[in-house]
Amino acid sequence: MPVVGGNEKMRIGVLALQGDFAEHRVVLARLGVETVEVRLPRDLNGIDGLVMPGGESTTIGKLAHDYGLEQPIRDMAGSIAMWGTCGGLVFMARDVGVDQPILAIVDMVVQRNAFGRQVDSFEEDLDMACLRGEPYHGVFIRAPVIVSVGPDVEVLGKLKDGRIVAVRQGRLMATSFHPELTADDRLHRFFLELAAGNGNRS
Ligand code: GLN
Repeated sequence: MPVVGGNEKMRIGVLALQGDFAEHRVVLARLGVETVEVRLPRDLNGIDGLVMPGGESTTIGKLAHDYGLEQPIRDMAGSIAMWGTCGGLVFMARDVGVDQPILAIVDMVVQRNAFGRQVDSFEEDLDMACLRGEPYHGVFIRAPVIVSVGPDVEVLGKLKDGRIVAVRQGRLMATSFHPELTADDRLHRFFLELAAGNGNRS
């Protein structure tokens, strides 16, 4: 049974070039949403939202470019909801400080692998502006941080040290961590609200 009413009509694309797209599909399926793996431009037809999962952003960007997906995704940004997690966040950024294929659809400057080798992976509870209730348990794996954001970008979450790890620009959302690896599906639900066009609810 769908957990959130109305999601059964929703169709969400999950970019499936590399990385942990399968985990996102599992969460979305649990919420009663139809998902489609996006590998070619035609897979974008008829979707209400696009999730770009974590992985190696250089590989994701190169494959998206080679398969002709880069420009179609850029053209759809804003008319459908999009959510990048970790490597997917890097792919959405306007500036990553190095030369690699990026979409440049969210006005943010990102630093890749911002926590260095000593703290490759860590977990931290986050107070998220878009969620009610308990803090959200963030799982960070060779994660990027958002160094700065433009005026149209809302900060949704920060680490305790103040570094930005979650943002939203209209219907585009980006998170440094991996919500698909925890049992807490509140961010997936929030994304479905953006996909349904209800993202301005209080
Ligand atoms: N370090 C990767 C990158 O910068 C992201 C890692 C991840 O998605 N878990 O592309």
